[in-house]
Amino acid sequence: MDKAVSVLRGTPVVPGVGCGPVVRPEVRVPVPTEFATIPDTARDAEIARFVTAVDAVTGRLRARAEASTGAAAEVLNATAVLAQDRAWRSTAETQIRGGADAAAATIAATDRFVVMFEKIGGLQAERTTDLIDIRDRVLAELDGRPEPGLALPTSPSVLFAADLAPADTAALDARYIVGIVTVLGGPTSHTAIIARQLGIPCIVAAAGTDTVAEGTVVLVDGATGRVVVEPDREVAEAEVARDRAERDRIAAWTGPGATADGHAVAVLANVQDGAGARAARDTPAEGVGLFRTELCFLDRATEPVVAEQADIYAEVFAAYDGRKVVLRTLDAGSDKPLRFATHPDEPNPALGVRGIRVDDVAPGILDRQLDAVAEAARRTGVTPWVMAPMIATVAEAAAFAQRVRARDLVPGVMIEVPAAALLAERLLDHVDFLSVGTNDLAQYTMAADRMSPALAALTDPWQPAVLALVAQTAAAGRAVGKPVGVCGEAAADPLLACVLAGFGITSLSCAAPAVAGVGARLASVTLDACRDAAAAVLATTDPAAARAEAVRVLG
Ligand code: PEP
Ligand code: MG
Repeated sequence: MDKAVSVLRGTPVVPGVGCGPVVRPEVRVPVPTEFATIPDTARDAEIARFVTAVDAVTGRLRARAEASTGAAAEVLNATAVLAQDRAWRSTAETQIRGGADAAAATIAATDRFVVMFEKIGGLQAERTTDLIDIRDRVLAELDGRPEPGLALPTSPSVLFAADLAPADTAALDARYIVGIVTVLGGPTSHTAIIARQLGIPCIVAAAGTDTVAEGTVVLVDGATGRVVVEPDREVAEAEVARDRAERDRIAAWTGPGATADGHAVAVLANVQDGAGARAARDTPAEGVGLFRTELCFLDRATEPVVAEQADIYAEVFAAYDGRKVVLRTLDAGSDKPLRFATHPDEPNPALGVRGIRVDDVAPGILDRQLDAVAEAARRTGVTPWVMAPMIATVAEAAAFAQRVRARDLVPGVMIEVPAAALLAERLLDHVDFLSVGTNDLAQYTMAADRMSPALAALTDPWQPAVLALVAQTAAAGRAVGKPVGVCGEAAADPLLACVLAGFGITSLSCAAPAVAGVGARLASVTLDACRDAAAAVLATTDPAAARAEAVRVLG
């Protein structure tokens, strides 16, 4: 083996260490290239054949969802919903009406939607894998072939693949798949979400995997994104054992969030709907620190009416009955376009009309959403904290706070724009809390697209410039005695969470699977150590040095 490729790198998405021989179990379905022309008289029958195939595929996805739990069930259900997408189906049916056979129509409709999803970008672009998986399943069904899938190993192995369909990832058994490395995919792809639920260390967007032969032993480190090819056996065993001990410590942590010397820092969950909130209840999360309401409506062409919105919000409030829930008003635009709220045709959507700014160009949507939140609050007896995304000025915060207070709700704003971090103390004249969105704060501080893998080093939340703004925001909260949380991805990094606590951050909200890791790490250090680490990190000039300083102080 060429020494130059002995360590491969990718994007780490699920932490943990796994070691074993490489397997490549993907069963690829060749996409047909020859098609029939369907005569006029047989087109209705061909449409029926297409519909039957799609329904059969949907039925099997639903059955697998029912046999699964948590994120796997949700992802399988979402794939089933995508298979029933009316626009995709009618595009295929139109093709058949024009004489295409069912296979050609399936391929053409999928191609068209893949282009559309990629143009929208962000989360939607990552759904192209799901759509292509549906296409391959429908093609197999039309041909009477078995569904595509994985031929899975029966001894501990590391799975290498170009990409994984959600349905295939959901079927993985963590006893036999000890690591996943894919060439495609992103941190929010369905592969990553399910691998996280299954607890399988996972790296996506890995380069150079085709240089590793099947059967070669590799060590996958899902925290750093390293794949060590043919590692030293003793070193690998020690790394796996250390990882196992760490996982046991995390499993034993039951909350509530506090440092070893009892300084409370609430550890909360980020959710996107009632199902997510109920799933988060299985973790020690003390409440919801970020309910991303826009994610409930990504597939909607029109604005849901107040009563329907209230039903959806009430589900989340009820799941955390009597505990803290922070709801964020619609953050439409940029990487999360909503058809009924997104400003069309912007050359630079991340710097365009998104978040709170939508209220200026489409007045009414925010007020109706706040009415729905108030209605859900009345119904459930829960008083949610309500915050606005993308606040850049004090005037925006003041106007938002007034509208929230008028409905007897607790107002806050997100700190995602450097301007807001710099004026945090003045924002707190108007609102009761702040929540730092480090994903966007990093994007706007470093002028680097958060979705660009090429700029990942710049959007690293350990960038000292980003951390300096977080520290300044936390200090503003301390000065006036108001809570300042962090709800961006930074809060999911256990080491960084301790540094944030050292800044004076009062709550950390992260994806449910990260909750216990953050809480367990916080419980292992004192507040003084966190403060020392915070000071040391702020004195550095790059992310690697910042991490190294945190490790030096916190261990
Ligand atoms: C953030 O920007 O950090 C945040 C939490 O919001 P989102 O990731 O939904 O933009
Ligand atoms: Mg944001």
